[in-house]
Amino acid sequence: SKFVYFFGKDVTDGKGSMRDLLGGKGAGLAEMANLGIPVPPGFTITTEVCVLYLKNKKYSEEVLKQVEEAIDKLETLNNKKLGDPEDPLLVSVRSGARVSMPGMMDTVLNLGLTDKSVLGLANKVNDERFAYDCYRRFISMFGDVVLGIDFDKFESLIEDRKKELKVESDTDLDAKALKDLAERFKGVIKLEKGFDFPQDPKVQLQMAIDAVFESWNNPRAITYRKLNEIDDSWGTAVNVQTMVYGNRGNTSGTGVAFTRNPSTGERKFFGEYLINAQGEDVVAGIRTPDFIDTLGNKIPEAYNQLVDICQKLEAHFKDMQDIEFTIQEGKLYMLQTRTGKRTAASAVKLATDMVAEGLIDKETAVTRVKAEHIDLLLHPRIDPNARLEVIAKGLPASPGAAVGKVVFTAEAAEEMAEKGEKTILVRTETSPEDIGGMAAAQGVLTVRGGMTSHAAVVGRGMGKPCVVGCGEISIDIKSRLFMVNGHTIKEHDYVTIDGSTGSVIIGKVELIDAEISDDLKKILLWADEIRTLGVRTNADNPADAGLARELGAEGIGLCRTEHMFFGEDRIPAVREMIMAEDEKSRKKALKRLLPMQKEDFLGIFRSMEGLPVTIRLLDPPLHEFLPDKEELDAKLRELEASGDCGKIDEVKNVIKRVVSLKELNPMLGHRGCRLGITYPEIYDMQVRAIMEAACELANDGMQIVPEIMIPLVGLVKELSITREEVCKMAETVMAEKGVKIDYKVGTMIELPRAAIVADQIAQEADFFSFGTNDLTQTTFGFSRDDVSKFVPIYQKAGILEHDPFAVLDQEGVGEIMKIGISKGRSVKPELKMGICGEHGGEPKSIHFAHKIGLNYVSCSPYRVPIARLVAAQSTI
Ligand code: ADP
Ligand code: MG
Ligand code: MG
Repeated sequence: SKFVYFFGKDVTDGKGSMRDLLGGKGAGLAEMANLGIPVPPGFTITTEVCVLYLKNKKYSEEVLKQVEEAIDKLETLNNKKLGDPEDPLLVSVRSGARVSMPGMMDTVLNLGLTDKSVLGLANKVNDERFAYDCYRRFISMFGDVVLGIDFDKFESLIEDRKKELKVESDTDLDAKALKDLAERFKGVIKLEKGFDFPQDPKVQLQMAIDAVFESWNNPRAITYRKLNEIDDSWGTAVNVQTMVYGNRGNTSGTGVAFTRNPSTGERKFFGEYLINAQGEDVVAGIRTPDFIDTLGNKIPEAYNQLVDICQKLEAHFKDMQDIEFTIQEGKLYMLQTRTGKRTAASAVKLATDMVAEGLIDKETAVTRVKAEHIDLLLHPRIDPNARLEVIAKGLPASPGAAVGKVVFTAEAAEEMAEKGEKTILVRTETSPEDIGGMAAAQGVLTVRGGMTSHAAVVGRGMGKPCVVGCGEISIDIKSRLFMVNGHTIKEHDYVTIDGSTGSVIIGKVELIDAEISDDLKKILLWADEIRTLGVRTNADNPADAGLARELGAEGIGLCRTEHMFFGEDRIPAVREMIMAEDEKSRKKALKRLLPMQKEDFLGIFRSMEGLPVTIRLLDPPLHEFLPDKEELDAKLRELEASGDCGKIDEVKNVIKRVVSLKELNPMLGHRGCRLGITYPEIYDMQVRAIMEAACELANDGMQIVPEIMIPLVGLVKELSITREEVCKMAETVMAEKGVKIDYKVGTMIELPRAAIVADQIAQEADFFSFGTNDLTQTTFGFSRDDVSKFVPIYQKAGILEHDPFAVLDQEGVGEIMKIGISKGRSVKPELKMGICGEHGGEPKSIHFAHKIGLNYVSCSPYRVPIARLVAAQSTI
């Protein structure tokens, strides 16, 4: 089989669709070569070889042969040979996995230089300084990436040399200084590793290829994969590519760019470059790069060609591209193209713009916006009217506001996060080692680096607010503080950063709720056209219901009536009801509650006029409404001490009731329809309140669609008895009010037994709603309130992938749901079914709900837009 794929003018084996095998970089290079775009020739060793190498720690004969052949071909094509003392071929060795992992795998440039060939290179181009610049870069990169020597060991020698020669910048070092550095670098290698820097280019190449493959398993790469749910088994490809030089003087340079603005989505070429520089200089933050627009004044032909190529790439890939290029003495070469990472705001703008431009259709647009994007866009931001003390301005690298305590190391950010503290990570610049800390912090602030620096790229990828290149700041790491414009900010002081404006603000700024932009509205309306799954909300007050409706909810899937019972004005009446010794006094207390409940339903029905409202009758165990036993005991002691005999009996009574209501497993105890059956007058009152409210509004000409839901049914008789009672009351109220309303009576399916006898239960139900919180609890036998003690341990040990209360367990709970659906529909094919647990707003679970044929999901108001989008994506 084929292990090595060549790319270059006229000789490209691979193509863009082969990213699994060639990695993103290799596939992109092949596709550009196929499009006739100038790409330095080279070859890609496949990800398959990586997987085999990491397993066997060696290569097969066939792989070695194919690599050898590819090198021959590259030499012939370039008419140069590796290690040739007269005119050497130099290559770069670049990693590239299936999905881009910024900064994770390192690249080695100028490979093939040796003590001999460097002279040939100098001679050939008649530039000794250039040749030694390449050589010292190569030795240090080789030492760092391939041999694992700390890059600072080399970097500090450069700094020393610059000090000795009293120069500012790397570009001020002359040939002699660079030659001298190359010698010193070789000395570092000898000292650190005990062997000489290899002088055989074939050996150099093999060592570099091995190192790239092995870097798949370095800790930074593993962390990144974990954070981004990337499969550890994929492996990386290696690209060996002919070098081109951006460090050949003032008509040479190197840069990175996006075909559109990745931060805002604006249709404007966006990027940075450096003249007379090589490789990573732009992103490493060593010199501050220039904005791409100005390249047109310096090297106009190459710039115009670059703009053309970008347009060609966008038209071809139909998405924003992130590109890398090098200009060698006026001639442009493309070194990379990939789909650009984007912020939430830009994802939305790019998608809607590209539909308007006719580049993509609405379905594609809906898939370009991710659930996480919407989540971010609905996140709080800085109140535009707040009075802010802005102490510095940096570059707005990744939008959103973040508030937290200042920390200066990634470890500190992680430690604070474990304690539940919010932090802002402040660094001179970030590197891949900081990824864990960046993830743990609320936001990132750096002193150096541009819009394409590590912090910026990773921040945007993570959706983490980020301000970079804030040069006014000076960090004093020893005293654990930073100073800026006369302010001193100590470790653990609060700061706020605004990644949309670049502002750094002193203190803890109040954030306000987000607004849905017109572009996002457009995307969500397209999603509504596409999706078949309904989206409702869980709401139990008019304000939430109204908000959810604005966010696109098509009704209420779960209105929990018990939340209303906790209101300050209600609790005495609720307690009176619970304390009641007999039916008569219970009814008296319920009478007091009736008008309050009715008032609630009037409000909710009004805000959901015309849409279905599913109301669940009382569900939790009664003791939840009573005061705590210990508190009561304390009160009793107090009363006894003060001799206030009047109240003592009352408190004793309450204690008696609390004790009698105490249950060992309340979640499996006297709750749900079990309450309704033992105290029918409670449900009677609730149904009366619902129906009176509905009838009165109907008499006012409103269309009200109540759906009364019975919780925790496991036996069909529980439902039939309760249902009869509910209907009797509903008919009574409608007769009293002289109006007919189309109401429904249905049930929760939240016990495995209910799912299994769903065919019986369906006979008595107008609808089903899967209560996946309780269904998960009862299927696993996990107490919802105690899982935090062991689920994290299960996740670490690989016993559970996700917390089943956050992400629906499709294998177990999901199968039970399927039984419930098919048994229910075997009796009533049109039976309407939904899901109302927390899972209703979780993307993976929403896809599942669509797949198994539910009619709707119901989730909290702020997740409604996410559910609309994901429901549409489920159909595409
Ligand atoms: P990363 O995946 O970290 O972006 P790359 O493999 O893209 O690493 O290499 C980083 C940089 O090295 C490139 O952006 C480019 O500037 C430079 N580079 C890589 N290969 C070559 C080459 N053949 N000629 C010139 N520069 C190169
Ligand atoms: Mg790159
Ligand atoms: Mg429940």
